[in-house]
Amino acid sequence: MDAPRNDATRPLYDHLERLLFTEAEIKARLVEMGAQITAEYEDRRQLTIVTILQGGMLFMADLIREIHLPMKVDSISVSSYHGGTESSGTITFNENRLPDLKDRHVIVLDDILDTGHTLHAITNRFRDECNPLSVKSCVLLSKKVDRAEKIEADFYGFEVENEFVVGYGLDYNGEYRNLPEIGVLKPEFYTHEA
Ligand code: 5GP
Ligand code: MG
Repeated sequence: MDAPRNDATRPLYDHLERLLFTEAEIKARLVEMGAQITAEYEDRRQLTIVTILQGGMLFMADLIREIHLPMKVDSISVSSYHGGTESSGTITFNENRLPDLKDRHVIVLDDILDTGHTLHAITNRFRDECNPLSVKSCVLLSKKVDRAEKIEADFYGFEVENEFVVGYGLDYNGEYRNLPEIGVLKPEFYTHEA
């Protein structure tokens, strides 16, 4: 049998100071989240899941397979970090196009909720400009912080402390998104601080 993927023999895994969630733990939680969303949206026929790129890619791919309902999927790309480890507070929409959400029940997915600027900006724009039937939010990780924006996710996977995490879609400087686990990087792998 193959060695477990969360062993310490892989170079990228070696960059982690601390492992927070294994691949199996993430998958198990997604099954529960999928069941919760399936139950809540069972009677509705117009579900659209919109993921926030790049961070929400893996989360979307795995979560939608645990939601047993007809749905459409879409994505939106925004920037807030500009390479460092602190949220800038300014959300830049990278495309002019917004998804077609008219008369749809929308769930916006993101990898992690921190200050709330990102989810706040996106859910408000969708409500104001896209005529959806409803807009809810879903994040894999929710940081335990006092948020700048008064927003909480309607669905979330795990809570994390106020530290910078990578893996499973979450990057540092564009890298580590392909790490199957989530963890905290060793200090020597931060090339600069924002
Ligand atoms: P917010 O706008 O809520 O402050 O932050 C949301 C965005 O910041 C997320 O989409 C994510 O891209 C990024 N982010 C926040 N905290 C972390 C973190 O600990 N690690 C990584 N890699 N990205 C984070
Ligand atoms: Mg993001």
